[in-house]
Amino acid sequence: MYWEKELEVLDRKNLEKLQVERLMKTLRQAVNSSYYGRIPEISKAIKSGINSIDQIRELPFTTKENLRNDFPWGFLSTDKREVVRLHSSSGTTGNPTVVYHNRHDLDSWANLMARSLYAAGVRDTDVFQNMAGYGLFTGGLGFQYGVEKLGCLSIPAGAGNSLRQIKLMRDYGTTVAHAIPSYLGRLFDVFKEEGLDPRKDTKLHTLVIGAEPHTEEHRRRIEEMFGVKAYNSFGLSEMNGPGVAFECTEQNGLHIWEDAYVVEIIDPITLQPVADGEIGELVMTTLDRVAMPVIRYRTRDLTRFLPGECKCGRTHRRIDRIAGRSDDMFIMKGCNVFPMQIEGVLMKLPEVGDDYRILLETIDDQDEMIVEVEVKKDWFKGDLSFLDKLQKHLIHLIRDEVLVRPMIKLVEPGSIPKTEGKAVRVFDRRKK
Ligand code: ADP
Ligand code: ZN
Repeated sequence: MYWEKELEVLDRKNLEKLQVERLMKTLRQAVNSSYYGRIPEISKAIKSGINSIDQIRELPFTTKENLRNDFPWGFLSTDKREVVRLHSSSGTTGNPTVVYHNRHDLDSWANLMARSLYAAGVRDTDVFQNMAGYGLFTGGLGFQYGVEKLGCLSIPAGAGNSLRQIKLMRDYGTTVAHAIPSYLGRLFDVFKEEGLDPRKDTKLHTLVIGAEPHTEEHRRRIEEMFGVKAYNSFGLSEMNGPGVAFECTEQNGLHIWEDAYVVEIIDPITLQPVADGEIGELVMTTLDRVAMPVIRYRTRDLTRFLPGECKCGRTHRRIDRIAGRSDDMFIMKGCNVFPMQIEGVLMKLPEVGDDYRILLETIDDQDEMIVEVEVKKDWFKGDLSFLDKLQKHLIHLIRDEVLVRPMIKLVEPGSIPKTEGKAVRVFDRRKK
């Protein structure tokens, strides 16, 4: 039932006691870094001690900007010699961010990953194909070491090359695979082009999907296409990568591992905790990292705690699927819009394909939201009055959801340009 029973079902009181102990240890470690060494609240907390986990609110937040400004060594809390790996973001929008790991950190990460997969029903009898990019992206190696720790036969396939992915699946009888959700529609198309049906022609029973926002409707589609259960995996490189929060077989929110992280959800404006169950920004503190502890990291991811206990018995709280990143939100005609609201509408309609994008443009001095939507082949060939009806229907549904009337452009399957890696959904070309 559990990978580490004693930790996974620890009662709240003892879980918080463990968090306080680990937080103190983390602070004592963090203060060795040049960044946290300069923060008076950290030194003060070390001196006066912490009695309850809520006191974490007395410490300042850490932001992506802070990580960038002190790039590359400012957050390193050990001797360089102790560090055995780094992962880093691409840095297209400024200095990259980097995270360092020593041996302990890598082992603890692999353990969280194994625990997460086990919770989703993966066992050492499974053949696990990882279709994430290896390299600096954490989805490759992060899964790799977790899968090995769990004891599956691992296939480090890496990203892309769908024909080869399919061949690997069939040659070795892959039962579980991991990929970003936006890739799976494409993979399915290649199956079809090859005259294959993943439901019949593979042994897949589970897909692990994550690394980018997606809706419940999108998950259900993936389950349907592949004839599997699909589990949501959440993580970010600043907190290791995958293995931070994961769905158990109940598929009812993601358990966020509270022995490894202190988890807060705050109002991004007031910076105060939101009321229980309300959506806010996820803030996380590492509790078991030595080379680079990060304290009260503002993830910019929006979610909420789900109320109640999980039937699986794990006591670590569950978060809802990520509604989006605060920086994904755009303002259109005075309304705040999240791409996931639009995806939710699109994926409910069986005629709509798996790819879409949102173009924000200025047309005749007016800002417009154009939603390009791929229509599935059978329907796209169909008669024009059908497409006309679909277009009108989508305009209504989206307007009701986001309060902005969109323009809808229905396009052929496969015609939306693919982005490398994670899907980019919004292109803002408005005249400012
Ligand atoms: P980058 O910022 O370059 O994408 P990461 O690879 O660390 O860097 O990605 C982490 C981010 O990916 C998270 O902060 C979150 O926005 C997104 N993410 C990861 N997993 C999920 C998931 N299951 N659902 C929604 N978003 C996710
Ligand atoms: Zn559960």
